[in-house]
Amino acid sequence: MKRIVVLGGGIGGTTVANRIQRLLAPEVETGQVEISVVDKEGIHAYQPGYLMVVFDKMRPEETRQDEARLLHRNIRLVKSEVVKIDAAGKKLHLAGGKEMPYDILVIATGSTLHPELSPGFTEGAHSFYDLANAVKLRDDLRQFNGGKIVVTVAGMPYKCPVAPLEVTFMLDDYLRSRGLRDKSEIHYTYPIPRVFGIETVAPVMQKIMTERGIQTHTPFNVQKVDAAGKKLVGVEGEALDFDLLVGIPPHRGADLIGASGLGDKGNWVPTDKYTLRAEGQNDIYVLGDATNIAISKAGSTADYEAETVAQSVASQARGIAPSTRYEGRVYCWIMTGLSQATYIKFDYLHPPHPPTPSFSHYWNKMIYNRVYWDVTARAMF
Ligand SMILES: Cc1cc2nc3c(=O)[nH]c(=O)nc-3n(C[C@H](O)[C@H](O)[C@H](O)COP(=O)(O)OP(=O)(O)OC[C@H]3O[C@@H](n4cnc5c(N)ncnc54)[C@H](O)[C@@H]3O)c2cc1C
Repeated sequence: MKRIVVLGGGIGGTTVANRIQRLLAPEVETGQVEISVVDKEGIHAYQPGYLMVVFDKMRPEETRQDEARLLHRNIRLVKSEVVKIDAAGKKLHLAGGKEMPYDILVIATGSTLHPELSPGFTEGAHSFYDLANAVKLRDDLRQFNGGKIVVTVAGMPYKCPVAPLEVTFMLDDYLRSRGLRDKSEIHYTYPIPRVFGIETVAPVMQKIMTERGIQTHTPFNVQKVDAAGKKLVGVEGEALDFDLLVGIPPHRGADLIGASGLGDKGNWVPTDKYTLRAEGQNDIYVLGDATNIAISKAGSTADYEAETVAQSVASQARGIAPSTRYEGRVYCWIMTGLSQATYIKFDYLHPPHPPTPSFSHYWNKMIYNRVYWDVTARAMF
C-alpha cells in the first residue's frame, strides 16, 4: 500500500488532499493507496475572512470550520503537531513521540507570524493577521473618533501581499462612512520604493491613494515601534507619529521546517517553481506559503499549485513519471473600499493589469467568501 501524507490542513493541504483522493479514488477504495492529512489543530481557517471581520463583513465564526467536515470521507485526519520530518527515513515525528511513515509527502504548513521580531510591534501595533487581533482591531476601530492612522509592513515576505493595500482603502471608506475622514489622516508605508511589489500594479494603486488623500512613504523599513511614544521609526531615518498603527507582522516558515533541515534561513522550503518538488527530494512536494518561490503567498496560489501537486502525486503513486507543471498562476481580488474591488490575475510570464474597481468585482469576492468552503476547500472543480 502507498501512504500519501499531507502535512497541514489549511487552504493548500485540504484542497490538495481532496484532489488527490479524486484522482486516485479507485486505488483508495481498494486499499492500494491511503491518504492522510496531519494538522495540529484540526480546524481549517479561511484567513481572507479576517479582513472582512475587521469591517463587519463576516462574523468571526464564519472564518473557521472543522477540518473533518471538509475532507472526503476516505481521507484520514490525524490531529497532531508534527515536530520533525525525517526525509531520509521517510517518516514524520509527531508530538508525543509517535511516528508516521509515508511514501509521498506534501508539505503545506503555511507561514508563521513573528511579531516579536519587530521591536515594539506586539505592544504598539494592531494587526488583522490572526482572528483574535482582527476582532480587536474591529472593536478598537468602533471607538476611534478620528486621528492619524498609519499602515505598515514590518517584514517581507508576508502572505497576501495585497492585504496592506486593502486595509488602507477600506479604512479610508470606513472613516468616510462614519463622517471621520476630515478629522483623520491615513499614512501608508511600504518597504520598497513603490506602494506594491508588482510594477504593473503599483502605479494603479498609487493613483487611487493620491486621489483619496492617502499619504505614502516608500521605501520605509520598520526599525521599531515606540509604543509609549506612539511613533513608528523607520530604518531610512523617517519617524511617523500615530494614533492607531495597523501593521503586518514579520513572517517565517513553520518551525518544524527548520528543525528538519529542509528550510532556508527563513524556514521556507527551497522548491522547484515548476514541479513543486522540494529541492533534492524525490518524494516531497511543497505548496502554499511554505515554499520559497518568489510568488505571492496567497490562498489562490496554493489552490492553483494543488492542481499540479495532486496530478504529480497521483502519477508518482501509479509509478508514472509526473509531467504537470505549475506555471505561476495567481488570482487575487483587491478590495478598494467597503463596496468596490478590482483583481489581479497573472502567472510567471504574464504580469497583471487590474481593471477599474467596481461594485461587481466586490460582489464576486463576497460570493466567493461564501462558496469557498464547498468550491475551493472541497476541490469541487
Ligand atoms: C488577513 C489575511 C487576508 C488574506 N486574504 C487573502 C485573499 O484575499 N486571497 C488569497 O488568495 N489569500 C489571502 N490570504 C493568504 C492566505 O490565507 C494564505 O496564503 C493561505 O492560507 C496559505 O495556505 P497554506 O495552506 O499554505 O497555509 P495555511 O492555510 O496557513 O495552513 C497551514 C496549516 O498547517 C498547519 N500546521 C503548521 N505547522 C504544523 C505542524 N508542525 N504540525 C501540524 N500542522 C501544522 C496549521 O495548523 C494550518 O492548518 C490572506 C491572509 C490573511 C492573513
